[in-house]
Amino acid sequence: MPLARTTIITESHWRVLKYNYKYNYNQPCLDQLTQILVEQLVPDFDLKMTQYHTKHSFPAWWQTFKKDWDKAVNTNIEFAMDKRHHIDTINWICSCPAYFCSPYLLCKHLVAKKNISPAFMEIK
Ligand SMILES: [Zn+2]
Repeated sequence: MPLARTTIITESHWRVLKYNYKYNYNQPCLDQLTQILVEQLVPDFDLKMTQYHTKHSFPAWWQTFKKDWDKAVNTNIEFAMDKRHHIDTINWICSCPAYFCSPYLLCKHLVAKKNISPAFMEIK
C-alpha cells in the first residue's frame, strides 16, 4: 500500500514535533505548544523549503525516487503488455500491481506511456 494513502504522513509530522521540538515537555500546554510551532517548527520548515526551492538540499526520499524512476524507464514492456492494464497518464493511475506497491506511485507503464525525461530528473 502506498505511503501517501495511509496516515503515516500525519504520524510522521507528529513524530518530528514530538522528538525534535517538544522533547523536554511531555504534555505541554496549548500556548506552549503554539509557541513551539510558531517560533521553532515553522521557521525551520520555511528554511528547509527555501533550501529545496533553491536546490541546495533535497528531501530524504529524492535519491530513491530517482532510482525508481530510472528503473521504470529502463524496463522493457513486452508487446501488448500495456493493454492488460488500465493506464491513465493524465490522472497518473495504472491498474498494475507494481503501481500499488510503489511508494511513489510509479510503474513502467506510466513512465513509458508518458515518454518524457522530466527536468527534475536532471537535478543531482
Ligand atoms: Zn503499471
